[in-house]
Amino acid sequence: MTTMTDSYEALLAAITPPTGTGREVRDPATGEVLGRVADSITADVAAAIATAKAAQPAWAARSDEERRAILHKAADAIERAAEPLALVLSREQGKPLNGPNARFEIGACVAWLRNTADTPLPVDVLVDDGTTYAELHYRPVGVVGAIAPWNWPMMIAIWQIAPSLRMGNTVVAKPSEHTTLSGLALIAILNQELPAGVLNVVTGAGEIGAAITTDPDIDKIMFTGSTATGKSIVAASAGNLPRVTLELGGNDAGIVLPDADPTAIAEGLFWGAFINTGQTCAALKRLYVHDSIYDEVVNVLTDVAAKMPMGIGLDEQNVLGPLQNQMQFDIVDRLVESAKASGARVVLGGEPDRDAPGYFYPTTIVADIHHADPLVVEEQFGPALPVIRYHSVDDAIAHANALDAGLGASVWSSDRAKARDVAARIQAGTVWINSHGTIDPRIPFGGVKGSGYGLEFAAEGLKNVALPQVING
Ligand code: NDP
Repeated sequence: MTTMTDSYEALLAAITPPTGTGREVRDPATGEVLGRVADSITADVAAAIATAKAAQPAWAARSDEERRAILHKAADAIERAAEPLALVLSREQGKPLNGPNARFEIGACVAWLRNTADTPLPVDVLVDDGTTYAELHYRPVGVVGAIAPWNWPMMIAIWQIAPSLRMGNTVVAKPSEHTTLSGLALIAILNQELPAGVLNVVTGAGEIGAAITTDPDIDKIMFTGSTATGKSIVAASAGNLPRVTLELGGNDAGIVLPDADPTAIAEGLFWGAFINTGQTCAALKRLYVHDSIYDEVVNVLTDVAAKMPMGIGLDEQNVLGPLQNQMQFDIVDRLVESAKASGARVVLGGEPDRDAPGYFYPTTIVADIHHADPLVVEEQFGPALPVIRYHSVDDAIAHANALDAGLGASVWSSDRAKARDVAARIQAGTVWINSHGTIDPRIPFGGVKGSGYGLEFAAEGLKNVALPQVING
């Protein structure tokens, strides 16, 4: 008997609505129709939340060991279905199978599930002095609304779902309308191992997400996406006061100090900026390079970038793909055109083939660009990196901190102590040294300023989807 784990076709068939119904889903690399999706209506949202609410007490009543074991089984199921899942992801999102892309994302789903299952969260004894005894426990919140974006549609969904389930909550997930098949495929595989009602999914555009955020039976919202939508969610949450975690991307700065070795850092800079073809919340989005090594850094980075093949995701040689949708193509295109108009120097790329199929925007590096250029101050979320010249480290730090964004940042130097001093002065949730965006399930991750609030991953991430309770006495 064929199961959905067996092949791409079987997995797609398992999540496809009856013939003749649903909206078409197109491959962003070719424009071809690759499947169909049936979107939810708001009544479906209420029904999914009711199901999650009904299932939550029994799920919470299981022991932590049981829930952890089930998360490991869910990770096993993803491993069994790894290649069909990677194909759905590659074809719908556009990211290549190869490189740090689709297969890598499936691997990350497994790693985050297993790590979330294994993260210890012991009861915290706060005071034990002979007269006072107080402990801090973490209890389930209830029903979590998990609203995901289209850039890493499976991995980010797992970031939201895995800790929520571990802590005894049930979930109503909503994939982005741009990557609904990826969300549905992942959840279908997870649900092979999860008890009924624990993980539910609704699909559709922003109004379906909004219906989740305003429902009185939603106790916690996990959101990753744009700052504008994050602000709408906070406003919507004023009615019922669910807890909210917001991961809103941003405009990560990288600062290359004068003592950095351009050749040694070139590949790290490239992947920091261009992973997932730049469509990454914590990608390097503006690079500040000291005048003394500016030209050399631009040259070696351009050499690395020029060699990275971009194309259709199913072609194994490619490591960069198209942008996922027209909206994102238009944003990148507008920002690069405005940089050109302001006199910045396009060192690589910058000339998309507008007649070719798909949303391909070539790998683009823009040098000699002003601090106030829109390509610097707005989030491009695509393969176009501005490289800004600076003369004093104080100035570079001031520019890095000038924007209302603070997810990640990086400092590049041959002197770790010096780099750490600079890192301490940057307003960002994470500052990497000699790498960028190298997230790890054991290390908490979250933004400051316009990049949102709340931590994900590790024990801090578990606490974030739980209610703290002090037992005093
Ligand atoms: P959005 O913030 O609109 O979308 C993220 C998720 O929120 C999607 O599932 C979306 O649904 C949903 N949503 C939209 N409106 C609401 C609402 N009012 N209430 C609840 N949920 C809602 O991002 P976009 O796709 O529009 O991308 C816009 C920009 O956001 C990009 O250009 C990029 O700069 C940034 N971005 C950042 C990401 C990150 O990782 N931090 C990821 C993606 C985008 P639907 O898509 O189905 O409409």
